[in-house]
Amino acid sequence: MRAVTVTPGSPNSLRCDPDWPEPVTAEGGVLVEALAVGICGTDHEIIAGHYGEAPPGVRDLVLGHESLGRVLEDPSGTLQPGDLVAGIVRSPDPVPCPNCAVGEWDMCRNGRYTEHGIKALPGFARDRWRVQPQFAVGLDPALARVGMLLEPTSVVAKAWEHIERIGNRAEWQPQTVLVTGAGPIGLLAALLAVQRGLTVHVLDRATTGPKPDLVSALGATYHATPVNELDFEPDVAVECTGAPTVVLDVMCKAGINGIVCLTGVSSGGRKIDFDAGSLNRALVLENNVVFGSVNANRRHWDMAAAALARADRSWLESLITRRVPVGAYAEAYRPQPDDIKVVLDFTA
Ligand code: BGC
Repeated sequence: MRAVTVTPGSPNSLRCDPDWPEPVTAEGGVLVEALAVGICGTDHEIIAGHYGEAPPGVRDLVLGHESLGRVLEDPSGTLQPGDLVAGIVRSPDPVPCPNCAVGEWDMCRNGRYTEHGIKALPGFARDRWRVQPQFAVGLDPALARVGMLLEPTSVVAKAWEHIERIGNRAEWQPQTVLVTGAGPIGLLAALLAVQRGLTVHVLDRATTGPKPDLVSALGATYHATPVNELDFEPDVAVECTGAPTVVLDVMCKAGINGIVCLTGVSSGGRKIDFDAGSLNRALVLENNVVFGSVNANRRHWDMAAAALARADRSWLESLITRRVPVGAYAEAYRPQPDDIKVVLDFTA
């Protein structure tokens, strides 16, 4: 069968192997036929050789952590053949740490977790894959064209759950949300904010392309100005660019008792001259919280599945700006200016 692979640490080793071995039963009882995988910044980092790890004793890593497929068999009877399904990315560490021991693997304490298509577990960019039933998330059948958005949605569902937990440290009635970055994570974070009845602002540097209209279609306001020119102070900010100056500007912009959730992974190495003392003073005197958020556990995947089922399907479809057949896989991994979410199509 076909599998899209890289040799981690070797830049530009991306290839499609036509003879990759079938998944073995030890990978899990649920056998799935791939429909599609979504591509994100992490895949580009892995292809560039900066990130990623092959399974122990193996040279290559199968890519793909944003999965969508149809169940072929599930001997546990949890899912039925034909059901739409996505595979959970992270598996708990083997120790396990106190968090992994209770299913909170997104908060793993010892870093020995594994991740499909990223860290020591084969990914979902192959014709067939297997997972254990507890790592298979069933999707509303109506999501057949957009269900690969479940993984990025799970990441923002976790971010929102943690924002709400932090907010509830005191009486909390948030109204205004600022999302920085109108890529897939930013747009899905904005969707979940709108679903919560909040007033949502999305900031991105793009002035053309699909982003402004996607934001308006949500009922949110689009800004293509620098953060410090905004005329409001958000109760919540979800930072999705990882761009150092935007990160700092957002931290300075949060309102009283404001919460800033960082989701973007910066590449590092860039130094900025910055008044850290003033920032500290503002954070302390305003009870602000700045926190990072990564990955998602089963609870967040289930919340994300419910959020996608509630969302406008045509809006979700318009996040997918290119669908590339596996036969032209290299095209899918070559970024284009107006890309939002690019998807590798295994049915073509
Ligand atoms: C994935 C997360 C993962 C993270 C770090 C992201 O692209 O969405 O599930 O934990 O990369 O490897």
